[in-house]
Amino acid sequence: MANPRMQPVGRPRGPSTPCRNFVPLRTHRSPLDPQLLETLRFAANSGAWLVGGAPAPSRPAPSGLEAIRREVGECRRCRLWETRTRIVFGVGDERARVVFVGEAPGFQEDLRGEPFVGRAGQLLDRMLAALGLDRGRVYIANVLKCRPPDNRDPLSDEVETCMAFLWAQIEAIRPRVICALGAHSARALLGVRGSISGLRGKAQPVGPWTVVPTYHPAFLLRQPRFKRQAWEDLKTVARLLAE
Ligand code: SF4
Repeated sequence: MANPRMQPVGRPRGPSTPCRNFVPLRTHRSPLDPQLLETLRFAANSGAWLVGGAPAPSRPAPSGLEAIRREVGECRRCRLWETRTRIVFGVGDERARVVFVGEAPGFQEDLRGEPFVGRAGQLLDRMLAALGLDRGRVYIANVLKCRPPDNRDPLSDEVETCMAFLWAQIEAIRPRVICALGAHSARALLGVRGSISGLRGKAQPVGPWTVVPTYHPAFLLRQPRFKRQAWEDLKTVARLLAE
C-alpha cells in the first residue's frame, strides 16, 4: 500500500535521454500499489521527492537508495514483519558495478540488520576477494528484506511483494552485472523455474541488466566440492565487468 505522505512531485529535471527505468513487471508481477511502484521508480532515478512537504533547503536531497529505504520504512507489506527483528535493506557502494543478491536474511543478519554476516558472509568476502573486490566496492542485498521464520524458504507472495524494492535498488545503482546467489535469487531475478545447477554460470539479460547465477555461499559451505563451479561463475562475472 502506498504511503500517502510520500508522493512523487513530478519528474526530475534532467537530460531528455531515454529513461533507463526498468522494473521487469513482465516477469515479476507485483501486488504493490501501482502508485508505490511509480514512487519507487522516481526515487531510484532522481533521489528527490517530498516527504511530508518540501525538504528543508539546508538538507541535501536523499540519494536514490536512501529514498527507497525511507519508502520501505517499517514495512508490513507481507507477513514476515511479524517475526523479523530488523529489516535488512542492503549494504555497499551505491555506484557498484556488480550487485550480489542472496535469498533472505538469516539469524545473524536479522539481528544485525546487515546481509551476509557469519560464515556464509565470510565466504562471500573471499569470493569477492577472488574478483579483486571487497564489500566497499559492490552492493549486497537479498530478495527478501526480512528473515523467514526458522530460515524457511521464501513464499511466492513474499517474493513478489518484496522484489519491487530490490528492483528499485538495482535501478538506483545501475550495475553492469547482478550475481544471483542461490536458486531462490536466480528464480526471482530471472523469473524462471529451475535448479541452481541448471541456471548457474549462464549470463542472461533481464532488461538492461545481465544476471549471472551461482551457488549460495551457505550451500558452498555445506558442499565445498561445488566451489570450483562457483569460481567458474565468478570468472564470468569478472569477464562481464571487464567488458
Ligand atoms: S519481506 Fe519485504 S515486503 Fe515483507 S515485510 Fe519485509 S520488507 Fe516488507
